Amino acid sequence: MSISRELFEQAVKVIPGGVNSPVRTCAGVGADPLFISRAQGPYIYTEDGQKMVDYVMSWGPMILGHNHEAVNRALHEAVDRGTSYGAPCRPEIDLAGLIVEALPGVDMVRMVNSGTEATMSALRLARGYTGRPKVLKFTGCYHGHVDSFLASAGSGAATLCIPGTPGVPEEVVAHTLLADYNDLEQVQALFAEHGQEIAAIFVEPVAGNMGLVLPRDGFLQGLRKLADEYGSLLVFDEVITGFRVSFSGAQGRFKVIPDLTCLGKIIGGGLPVGAYGGRREIMEKIAPCGEVYQAGTLSGNPLAMTAGYHTLKTLQEMDYDQLEARTGELAVSLRDILAQKGVPVQLNTIGSIFTLFFSDAPVTDFASAKKADQDLFRAFYNGMRDQGIYLAPSGFECAFNSFAHSALEWEKTLEAARRVSFSR
Ligand SMILES: *Cc1c(COP(=O)(O)O)cnc(C)c1O
Repeated sequence: MSISRELFEQAVKVIPGGVNSPVRTCAGVGADPLFISRAQGPYIYTEDGQKMVDYVMSWGPMILGHNHEAVNRALHEAVDRGTSYGAPCRPEIDLAGLIVEALPGVDMVRMVNSGTEATMSALRLARGYTGRPKVLKFTGCYHGHVDSFLASAGSGAATLCIPGTPGVPEEVVAHTLLADYNDLEQVQALFAEHGQEIAAIFVEPVAGNMGLVLPRDGFLQGLRKLADEYGSLLVFDEVITGFRVSFSGAQGRFKVIPDLTCLGKIIGGGLPVGAYGGRREIMEKIAPCGEVYQAGTLSGNPLAMTAGYHTLKTLQEMDYDQLEARTGELAVSLRDILAQKGVPVQLNTIGSIFTLFFSDAPVTDFASAKKADQDLFRAFYNGMRDQGIYLAPSGFECAFNSFAHSALEWEKTLEAARRVSFSR
């Protein structure tokens, strides 16, 4: 029996499902999760000693690659100064300063400990600021496991086919309005009916939790216009896209400026961090300068701030265009290899992210994403995994490239894809 298998058997006895986040289960692809012992650059190493090319990259944060030297060194020094103070410290200002400088929609930022905390707090702030109860979200977009957002929430829930979730009272999601991603007319209709009650539109400016789905031309601009017309806030959940689709996020790339921005993943450089920021006038409504309460014992933790700061500082000097071009080449080559095998395949890609959908129609929203053939994905996933390529174990996820990946790993990936068999 493999060591991963042994560890998994131990894990399921003390941890529900053996995993601390449901997306890590491999049940959907008919496999057990691999246990990881260490990671370096573009590689992760399993407990069984297998070295694998990683395209999960901790679900996005590790854009510099694992165990990046500058981040690692700064972290070691930070550990020697103590791991938590519960009082203000310099690294908080350093990280906040870089975020404010980079993102056009962010004048001030509050640190929290996860993306979920960021969206939960931003929702409270949007409601507190506008005095309105409702929130509009898009089917298949994921904004963390916040009660109000767990109505049609993408990958984790989609893979496991959980419609919403038990544990959230109907009264809570009664204030959540749903529209299809990329469908402005639906949004318009919802505003026509409920406009004066809508505190905010929450959107992933590039959707990354139903697989990668790009915004149509004019979609984000249209949301901006409707929010302005009705006095609602536009909130970009940039937990994936922030410092990923460009150094200035999706807002910088698409030149649509949200009122509030949620961040996570990359800004923690691999440590647990989230943040929400936005226009000064709105952010000043947060306690202690305003009345909207939000707090956190470990928020602004010196280790997390240090990892985040040195990650962003390093990213500032990196060539995003080059990484995007190489990611595009890799993804197109993969698509062509699969197409030559006669399986239907659609490619969505931007920046250093891509998703291959096993479908013969373009994927533009959750409904079209769900049409993808999950049996073909399962064969692809297992075929790649057997050859040392580590992909997310769900057809509704993104593959993340990084600045640590090189031609060597990409060639290995293509070689593996050539050998995958789809015969059923
Ligand atoms: C990952 C993610 C979240 C939740 O972040 P956690 O740190 O997992 O709580 C929220 N929004 C988006 C868009 C995400 O991808």
